[in-house]
Amino acid sequence: MLARTEKDGITVHTDTALRAAVGIAVGFTERTGGVSAAPHATLNLAAHVEDDPALVDENRFRVLSALGAEPFAERLTTAEQVHGTLLTRVHRSNAGCGARALGGRGPIPATDALWTTEPGVPLMLFYADCVPVILVSEAPRAIAVVHAGWRGALAGIVGDTVRAIGAELDGAVMTAYIGPHIGECCYEVDPHLVSQFSNMFVTIPRASDRLDLAAAVAEDLDRAGVSRERQWHLGICTAHNTDRFYSYRAEGRTGRHCAFALLEPRS
Ligand SMILES: [Zn+2]
Repeated sequence: MLARTEKDGITVHTDTALRAAVGIAVGFTERTGGVSAAPHATLNLAAHVEDDPALVDENRFRVLSALGAEPFAERLTTAEQVHGTLLTRVHRSNAGCGARALGGRGPIPATDALWTTEPGVPLMLFYADCVPVILVSEAPRAIAVVHAGWRGALAGIVGDTVRAIGAELDGAVMTAYIGPHIGECCYEVDPHLVSQFSNMFVTIPRASDRLDLAAAVAEDLDRAGVSRERQWHLGICTAHNTDRFYSYRAEGRTGRHCAFALLEPRS
């Protein structure tokens, strides 16, 4: 279950019971407590939005510190998100790609979903309206972070990620955390797009000019075997809450909050 926590000025929606039970940290950040200036104020975590990279790195370090994950900062792994459907597994060899906005190895290219079974490798992707999804398998331990905008959601990137991990790991039972994203309340789109979604998902109405991405993702997860009882939806609209989250639709040029997951090493 997700709860809102605050540490050293950084606000994160996280599951403390999961971490205590199996050493898996998950989180969705809010935008306060960082050092970036407008229009990225203040906790912008993305390197690709014309923010000062040194400030992005300070913001990332603050998030890792607030989550007690700063010992793993060098292995922080990020991706060049392109609204595609590629899932990349993070091993020791590619861990740390995109750890820093300033210098170091670049992010994993052309990927919108990362997953790993490697302890001590934090995964982080960036969002301003798109749907952040964190997937967790407790035994065997595995984590995934997925970026699902409308293109990814329509293509079924979330369900595909669940199935791909299931194919690699015998006995994996996934839980899903769905973070802050633009709600149906604020997501006005071309009715033809809604109709395309309606062809793929029974929960999407045929005639509408508003799109409920969470409903599509929930159905996609359900179909991939992650039933509603194992889905935790934060249910907060980014465009409605630009004091707490970034919204591309509401703000245009802005920063990015993150979804984060880490398998803590077991001693
Ligand atoms: Zn809204």
